[in-house]
Amino acid sequence: MFGAIYKSADDLIEWDWPKYEPYFTDLAGRSLSADGVDDWLEDWSKVNDCLDEQGNRLYVATAVNTTDTVAQQRFNAFIDTIYPQAQAASQKLKQMLLASGLQPAGFEIPLRNLRAEADLFRSENLPLLAEEIKLTAQYDQVVGTQTVQWEGQELTPAQLTPLYQDPDRHIREKAWRTAFERQLADRDAINELWQKLLALRLKIAGNAGKPDYRAYRWQDMQRFDYTPADCRSFHTAIEQVVVPAALRVYERRRQRLGLSHLRPWDLNVDPLNRPPLRPFKDVTELKTRVSAILHRVDVQLGGYFNIMLHENLLDLENRKNKAPGGFCTGFPAKKQPFIFANVVGLQDDVRTLLHESGHAFHTFELSKLRFSQQRAVPMEFAEVASMSMELLASPYLTAEQGGFYTQADARRAMTEQLEGMITFWPYMAVVDAFQHWVYENPGKAADPTQCDATWSNLWERFMPGVDWSGLEDFKVTGWQRKLHILTLPFYYVEYGLAYLGAAQVWRNSLENQQSAVASYRQALALGGTRSLPQLYQAAGARLAFDNEILYEIITLIEDFLDQQ
Ligand SMILES: [Zn+2]
Repeated sequence: MFGAIYKSADDLIEWDWPKYEPYFTDLAGRSLSADGVDDWLEDWSKVNDCLDEQGNRLYVATAVNTTDTVAQQRFNAFIDTIYPQAQAASQKLKQMLLASGLQPAGFEIPLRNLRAEADLFRSENLPLLAEEIKLTAQYDQVVGTQTVQWEGQELTPAQLTPLYQDPDRHIREKAWRTAFERQLADRDAINELWQKLLALRLKIAGNAGKPDYRAYRWQDMQRFDYTPADCRSFHTAIEQVVVPAALRVYERRRQRLGLSHLRPWDLNVDPLNRPPLRPFKDVTELKTRVSAILHRVDVQLGGYFNIMLHENLLDLENRKNKAPGGFCTGFPAKKQPFIFANVVGLQDDVRTLLHESGHAFHTFELSKLRFSQQRAVPMEFAEVASMSMELLASPYLTAEQGGFYTQADARRAMTEQLEGMITFWPYMAVVDAFQHWVYENPGKAADPTQCDATWSNLWERFMPGVDWSGLEDFKVTGWQRKLHILTLPFYYVEYGLAYLGAAQVWRNSLENQQSAVASYRQALALGGTRSLPQLYQAAGARLAFDNEILYEIITLIEDFLDQQ
């Protein structure tokens, strides 16, 4: 068996394909038997872990500094040369394993996934997939280099978002328009990228012998436990159960603000005109208090967070030349997660850090699984890990529990969170339904004006309650601002499903905190070794697309809000 492949991170990021090749040659040259297959899988996992870690480390290097040209070149080289060759070499190993007919214990789900992957693999798609990654990086670059002038300062649109909470309606309108106008200035550039991406995706699906890109992507994303028809049912359930609740949220807000119409810049301000919550002064305070909160949720989970603090696995502050957004990635050879965020001092930052910590806990909990393929978690469940953590942490947001707030402010944060869930599901339905339309009608979707029109129609169906009149250009281009549509096609319904899963974990925790957290951790430790319905069940939830569970959860949330 292979010894330790991994020396140090600095060494690994400089690896080229000849460093990997002998390992693949060795693995491909062995003969597989029932006795030897576990060792063979473990060795293959070691190589996979290094590959994933190298790619993730290089991605992080480009994200923490978008002007780091050395990191960018290395990342491009990884994508252009190492990644496609590793894919091709892995394909041989997958075929070997599948041809052997062996069924290693605990490997049923990974084997099902491998079969689907092998079936989809076409070598002629490798350069196209590499091209897709580069185009999506261009989108990140377009968005990441956007800046605006605000009172003599150069700011990113993300840095304007605290102003959306300003009690002065003129200021938040001006900030909102400044950010949205800057984003709209890149409309043509993004339209052009969109057309290239769409054409590329259709070609990839065609090469793989799939009738359309959705069918390709469904298999690619290993969606074995639900169908496009289930997504449609979910949209309908949201329309019937959640949209009316969202209208109640908007109407309550409109009344409290004393406005005749709610405009898009009225959605983030406190409805009682209190100044925004400013939970912490700096990133150090954020880290300290989040650590205390997580220790209240569970001592072991708090311990995981402290490991991340001590080992420098968090890059949180917002600054220029940093990629937008927040994410958690992993360095699997070292069994470490890494959290990236753009913190500006708001409750949103607290929530983002809790969310990403939930992902990080997943990495810790499943690290005992022996094979890399067992550690691949379906996204629909990965987001249950993160979204549950936002809710499980909510009782400990007060300063007396080690958190940030007075009782009243903690209640206010929780109200914002729960109202945000209610208004999220309809938005998610817009994003998901839009993508189903795109790939059902690729000819029409190649025309950005038709994309605009479709987005607008869906917006009216799912997002009533806010007045966008006079803001049509901003409204119809909402799909351009949703990075998933450009860079991670179809990856969005996961959030809607996972929120529903997380809400059930939260419901359980209101009845019995300890047993809810225990089930949560046990479900995380299963990694990707169970089907989606089984993972949800282990966490104490049901994977569902119907009105019933949505109705139960919306009722619970609205009752909770009434008591606040
Ligand atoms: Zn997430």
